Amino acid sequence: MSRVPVEHARGEELTYLEALADGRVVFQICDGCGSAVWYLRTVCPVCMSAELREHTSAGAGTIYSLTTLHRAGNAARADDVPYTVALVDLDEGVRVIGDLERALEIGDRVSARPHADGLAFEATEGIER
Ligand SMILES: [Zn+2]
Repeated sequence: MSRVPVEHARGEELTYLEALADGRVVFQICDGCGSAVWYLRTVCPVCMSAELREHTSAGAGTIYSLTTLHRAGNAARADDVPYTVALVDLDEGVRVIGDLERALEIGDRVSARPHADGLAFEATEGIER
């Protein structure tokens, strides 16, 4: 279970973390070029437009990559090792990072489970490993 250092968050990062705590995964769509953007930003990384609209993901996606950490990435996760994090391509077109709650594989379909400490993914029904 990730533990995000919320006390240091501000701006778009705080907006993202507050949405996770509210049970939502948010991203942006640029009015200038139509790009889907994650992590939340002030300007579009593709066309530099400041016209970014916030959207809530349905939470369905596919594992793009994953790794298991045997040494914590930061001190707040020291008691969690080993833990697995994954890059997940959400169906809306953004790639996000979060914890995997059990062993899955690249290409598996997952559902987002946002919570106050971060973002986790669980297997979509039908995947048995
Ligand atoms: Zn753009």
